[in-house]
Amino acid sequence: MPNPKRRHSKRRTSTRRAHDAIAKPVGSECSNCGASKLPHRACPSCGFYKGRAVVEVEKY
Ligand SMILES: [Zn+2]
Repeated sequence: MPNPKRRHSKRRTSTRRAHDAIAKPVGSECSNCGASKLPHRACPSCGFYKGRAVVEVEKY
């Protein structure tokens, strides 16, 4: 198995890991009910998209 010839410095390791942060989860606010939803998708809680109901949402 190939092995690294020399150990990386702490600086080199931390410089590489500077780009490893987790991205923020995508989300936007529904204009009808204010719940958080995915952008360019109908709202999962009220079924609205672009100001009108596009899908039926089952209520329990
Ligand atoms: Zn909504």
